[in-house]
Amino acid sequence: MCAIEAGKRGRRVAVLERADRLGKKILISGGGRCNFTNIHCQPENFLSANPHFAKSALGRYTPADFIALVEKYRIPYHEKTLGQLFCDHSAHDILHMLEEECRQAGVKLFLSARIEEVTRTTEFVVRMDNAEFRSPALVVATGGLSIPKIGATAFGYELARQFGLKIREPRPALVPFVFSAQDRSRYCDLAGVSTEVIATADRTKFREKMLITHQGLSGPAILQISSYWEQSRPLRIDLAPEREVIAPFRDPKLPRNISTLRTELRKFLPNRFADRWLDLHAPSSWINATLTEFEKRMHGWEILPAGTEGFEKAEVTAGGVDTDELSAKTMESRKVPGLFFIGEVVDVTGHLGGFNFQWAWASGAAAGRAL
Ligand SMILES: Cc1cc2nc3c(=O)[nH]c(=O)nc-3n(C[C@H](O)[C@H](O)[C@H](O)COP(=O)(O)OP(=O)(O)OC[C@H]3O[C@@H](n4cnc5c(N)ncnc54)[C@H](O)[C@@H]3O)c2cc1C
Repeated sequence: MCAIEAGKRGRRVAVLERADRLGKKILISGGGRCNFTNIHCQPENFLSANPHFAKSALGRYTPADFIALVEKYRIPYHEKTLGQLFCDHSAHDILHMLEEECRQAGVKLFLSARIEEVTRTTEFVVRMDNAEFRSPALVVATGGLSIPKIGATAFGYELARQFGLKIREPRPALVPFVFSAQDRSRYCDLAGVSTEVIATADRTKFREKMLITHQGLSGPAILQISSYWEQSRPLRIDLAPEREVIAPFRDPKLPRNISTLRTELRKFLPNRFADRWLDLHAPSSWINATLTEFEKRMHGWEILPAGTEGFEKAEVTAGGVDTDELSAKTMESRKVPGLFFIGEVVDVTGHLGGFNFQWAWASGAAAGRAL
């Protein structure tokens, strides 16, 4: 996006890509259909040490701008849920569109590029094994550390450090949790079971589906809350959002026993999970105080994860180049004129649902228009 915007303004642009093709993450995104934006995109959908930083770029390149591009290429798309736009056919459509825009803007692509050294004299010198590039501006768009097997590298962070820019410690985000050994033995045989929950970490909450996996927990509610989770802090899960599970017990005609409670739980939880919950947490008696305790636990299942599935499985990397170092308008380093950082390498991380691509497009456009 940055190369396209700069190319359209007549700049001579070279894209140096380490992989043997562009946009590998685009191709694997959204289950192969690329959730390319979210029509409800707001600054609140992003985490950053400075929550105001992303506003300017997001305001100047909006989901409507990207949708206009998608429509120009007649790419069929649909809203899946919660404003999330996906290709009807394939993520290849988005990649082809960007490649064609690059071609039309005169952008030169260099694939399998191995950058060995970057120095700065009066201009930037990028030295590769077989070539050297000199330029008054250098834009770093190397992404985060997620999914190393498709080519993620720490190069962007190393370059930032080399030029004296601060980094906020990168950490996996939008990532499944791994249970403690005890919880694993209690729940993991239910892998595949999912239910709607409210997941909470500190004061942040997400109401969406939770999925039990062979290692712990995943599903949209869990991925979202993982971005806010701090190591060694518990998660709280409301298994019965906006529901009073024990309400039927106010009816004196209803027998107070496990089978009545099982019937209640099975109304909103998958049967296997309801049964397991009762195996583990059945009330010790049927008096009101014990039932109230049971109710409380259903709304505040406290889990202390052993950790996350890490960068191998994380959809994004939180943290990155400290936004204090960059101009919010252009993404240019305040200390090193001509050096820009865009996309995931910056300490701006979107929620699940097309927001990370919208940040990549918007920050790319902001830099491309300033070059
Ligand atoms: C499985 C998965 C699914 C996802 N699905 C979605 C989705 O549906 N919607 C959404 O909004 N977000 C999604 N994301 C997140 C989204 O893909 C990223 O946030 C986004 O691609 C970031 O864009 P970027 O350009 O900053 O970095 P990237 O897309 O990661 O691109 C960085 C590029 O830099 C190259 N590179 C790295 N190191 C070097 C180097 N040393 N020299 C030269 N080149 C280098 C890489 O090869 C890569 O091509 C998903 C992520 C994953 C892992």
